[in-house]
Amino acid sequence: LPSDPRVFLTFDDGPDAFTPEILDCLASHEARATFFVIGEKALAQRPLIAQVQKGGHAIGNHSWDHRYIYFFRREAQLKNWIADAHRRLGDLCGNDPIGFRSPAGVRTPPLGRALADLRIPLIHWSQRFFDTARLWTPDRAQRAVNRLSPGEIILLHDTQSPSRRPIFLKALEHFLRAGKARGFRFAPLLPEDLT
Ligand SMILES: [Zn+2]
Repeated sequence: LPSDPRVFLTFDDGPDAFTPEILDCLASHEARATFFVIGEKALAQRPLIAQVQKGGHAIGNHSWDHRYIYFFRREAQLKNWIADAHRRLGDLCGNDPIGFRSPAGVRTPPLGRALADLRIPLIHWSQRFFDTARLWTPDRAQRAVNRLSPGEIILLHDTQSPSRRPIFLKALEHFLRAGKARGFRFAPLLPEDLT
């Protein structure tokens, strides 16, 4: 492994009632991550945003309202939708979001052009677990760690239903512990990582 093998955990769709438990789990393993928040949820739950920031995590733009309808509208409207969320989230957080994570991971040529115009990096992922549809378990986390490479971006969601939260936290804890044992460090995304 390289001298500083970082892995980037990302949590989409929050902030959520579950976010503080994820923050506690990350803190207890000295892990930091990036939270791709939905603007209207961030506005409604500013104390959670403050908690995320206090933990040293990065915040990304996951759109204002998660409505993919904008991908089917005119390019100017798509661009405004992204720019508006970026500016409002920047005001709310005190600094610009690290980049844009597209709702449902949609990537289209108009989106690419809009982001290039706005100079906002698109941040996709290299591994995901469909963790909102299928329970993320310690076994699945272990298999992910086995194939983990430096620089990977992992997609998770901090919007787990209450019945899934305990096992999700076990899986996250396992992932962090096993990843650390393999020599990885869990870091927030920084602007220099995206150029
Ligand atoms: Zn999403």
